[in-house]
This record gives sequence, C-alpha cells and structure tokens, in this order.
Amino acid sequence: MHFKARAGQKLADVVLQENLRKAKSKFVDMRARAIAELDDFEATREAAKVLRDRTLDDLDLWLERFELEATRRGATVLWAKDGAEVCQRVVDIARRHGVKKVTKSKSMLSEEAGLNQALEDAGIQPVETDLGEYILQINDNEPPSHIIAPVFHKRKEEVSALFARVHKLAAKTDIEAMTREAREVLRPHFLSADMGISGGNFLVAETGSVALVTNEGNGRMVTTLPRVHVVVTGIEKVIPTLEDLATLMRLLPRSATGQSISNYFSLLTGVKHAEDQDGPAHMYFVLVDSGRADLVGGEFAEMLRCIRCGACMNHCPVYQAVGGHAYGWVYPGPMGSILTPLFAGIENAVDLPQAATLCNQCGVVCPVKIPLPDLLRRLREKQVEQRLRPTAERLALTAWAWLARHPALYALATRIGVRYLKWLAGGEDRIRVLGLAPEWTLGRDFPAPEGKTFRELYAQKH
Ligand code: SF4
Repeated sequence: MHFKARAGQKLADVVLQENLRKAKSKFVDMRARAIAELDDFEATREAAKVLRDRTLDDLDLWLERFELEATRRGATVLWAKDGAEVCQRVVDIARRHGVKKVTKSKSMLSEEAGLNQALEDAGIQPVETDLGEYILQINDNEPPSHIIAPVFHKRKEEVSALFARVHKLAAKTDIEAMTREAREVLRPHFLSADMGISGGNFLVAETGSVALVTNEGNGRMVTTLPRVHVVVTGIEKVIPTLEDLATLMRLLPRSATGQSISNYFSLLTGVKHAEDQDGPAHMYFVLVDSGRADLVGGEFAEMLRCIRCGACMNHCPVYQAVGGHAYGWVYPGPMGSILTPLFAGIENAVDLPQAATLCNQCGVVCPVKIPLPDLLRRLREKQVEQRLRPTAERLALTAWAWLARHPALYALATRIGVRYLKWLAGGEDRIRVLGLAPEWTLGRDFPAPEGKTFRELYAQKH
C-alpha cells in the first residue's frame, strides 16, 4: 500500500493516463444529469444519512432481526469475524454440498477476503461472471481499479487482444461482439455451476432479504440457477425496512452510474418453494465483521454509512490522475483512503490519508453525507500521534501548531517567512541548490509569493 511509489508509476503510464482522460468526465456528467431529475435530492440525502445512522446505532438489534427473518424463510445465517473466516465458511458450505464449480457475481467483500484463491486452494473452480471482473480474472487475476467499473483502466483494444488469446477466437473490435463472445463463454458455466456467490448491496431486516443492484443479467443467473446461493456481505449493510430500501435506491444508481435505476434490481428472499419456478434450494448469508464492529460508535463510525457507490472516487482529482491500482488494495479513491487504514491497519497504509487534496469534492457528492475530508484529517492526526509520519514533518507540524497558538509570534514568523520565500523563489535555482522541496521542483516551478499576505489585506480592509 505504498501509494506514493505506485502513484509515480501510474502518472508515468501513458496508456493509463489516456484511458483516465477519456473516462474522466463520464461518471461525473452522468451523475449530474441523474440527480437533476430529483427536486428533493438534498432532502433524500439527509433522509438516507439519518436512516443509516439510526440503523448503525442499533446495529446488533437489526442484525438479529435480519437473522430471524432470513432463517424463518429457509436461509442459514453465518457470521465471520475476518477474511480467513469468510473463506473457511464458504469452503465448508461448498464441501457440504459437493460443489465443484462456483459462479460469482460482484462482491467487494470476497475481494477483501481473497475468496477466489481460497476456493482454488480447496479444488473448487471460481468463475467471475460480471464482465469487468471476468476480464480481470482471465488476465491473471488482475485486481479491480474501480468498485463499480473494475476495468475502468483498460482500453477495448487490450480486452480484444486478451479475449483472442484466452478464448482462442478471432479478435473482435466491436464492444457488442466482444460482450456476446463473453456471454457465450460464460453461459455453460452458469448452467453447470453448483453454487453461486453474490455480494449484497443491502440486507432488509424486516423481510430477511438481500437487495442486489446490477447492470448485467449475471447477478440473477448466479443467484437463481445453482442449487446453492451464498451471499457474502458486510454487517453494516443491514437496513430496517423495504421503505428504507426505497430511499437508498433513489440515491445509489444515480450516484454510482448516473442511472435513475439500474438495469437489474433483485430482491432475493429465502429458498425456492414448490410453487417457485427457480431459485436455490439452499441459501446462506455469510455476514462479515472484518473491522466494522470496532468502528460502531467511534470517531470513524460515519464511514459505516457508505453504500459503495463510487461517487467520491469519480469526483476525486487524485483518483482521476492516478486511477485505482495506486491505492494498493480493494477500495480506491477517498473511501479507500479511509477504509484501507481502518480495515488493514493505519500502520500498513501510511501514504493513503495523504492521498487527498481535502478539496471536499467527495464530501459534496457523497449520497449519505460522509464528511470524507474530516475523516482523512482525523487519520492524519492519528498518524502524527502514533509517530507514523517522518520526523521532520512531525516537528514542522508541532512548531506550526505552537506558533498558531501565539498570534503575535505567528504574525512575525509569517512576515519573515514570506520574505524568505520571496528571496528563495526569486531565483528558482536557490531552491534547487539548497535542496529544498526537491520533489516539487523536479516537475514544476516553485512560484514566488505575490502581493500582500492575508494578514496585511485583512488589516487594510478592516
Ligand atoms: S464514501 Fe460516499 S461517495 Fe464514496 S462510495 Fe461511499 S457512499 Fe459513495
């Protein structure tokens, strides 16, 4: 998770930069159009924030209610405290039902847990069926670069060459033809899989249902064709009622892909009954903690409101410049810069809270009003407290904090500092010769401060 080093590589990747440039405004423009359809968008955001907070305040009770209702409808609810337990539970289920092949619909938690590897190690074949995830799987299990559009970083020419190599068919250049080819390759897997694994966008406590929001038909086939369906999702995904689901569904597709409603919306409740035409004979929920319970009621609890729409990353100038792989783990963008240190350990992701300009674009677009820049700043404070930042940086911040509490000295220091900066930047070579700001001056000029300082202007105007 060495963001700084990876970001440098990604900035120098000409192909990636071209792909990012093309995709940059797509999600942004589409979201803007979709939210303009709602005249009560801000009120809906506020309602969503309140309902997520209300649920998280009583998370244990809503989870118990969910377990009760899901069990009543024939499903089995299992709990997993971390990724290792997720893998263990799913492999156990697969073995109990004699499963040889698993089809998978998109699930971020299975990425978090490394589930595909665990299945393979147990001799069970996992087949990703979301088109983007499938492309990544056949490309040596490349990690996704975006939570909604996992192959955001790839051009169609790359996918065309990959398909030709793996499918051993003539290369196609037309996206529709490539999609048809993928469907034809995946169809036999759908029909022969013994078990389907999906994520879950929301868990509805009052009915024991899982809600799935997808744009490809694969989610339905994964969850209804095999005899066993396993839902792997986080404990924070539970919401109390179907009415709450309706509120969140007004926000999720609009914020994620700029659609009023996704192409498919599935609400799956219980196992197949005699009168049903399809559906699984066995349904399991693996509800995962992996650090979530520790956040409840704490200073980062607001992050649990996240509905994984990806709007924060689509609008982030840092993500737009380096793409998702630079973040080094499952979750990229501003949400990843917070979730990764929280889930994987703050000491393992030292660069990530710094990977933001704190411009608050993410906070403005987040449909559940998570104050992402505030949380990033809190993580930075923790890094300084835990001595995870370089000594020079910590000393500079300590000196600045002391000065900021002594206004007269602060004013004096500012005057001297600005004069010194003007002298330094008057000749750019001085900065280079003195070895100051080497990373900055490597790629750009150091601008000389111009005009009056804020204090001088303030004094002049008042
Ligand atoms: S933090 Fe907000 S904007 Fe980002 S993915 Fe989560 S809900 Fe969406």
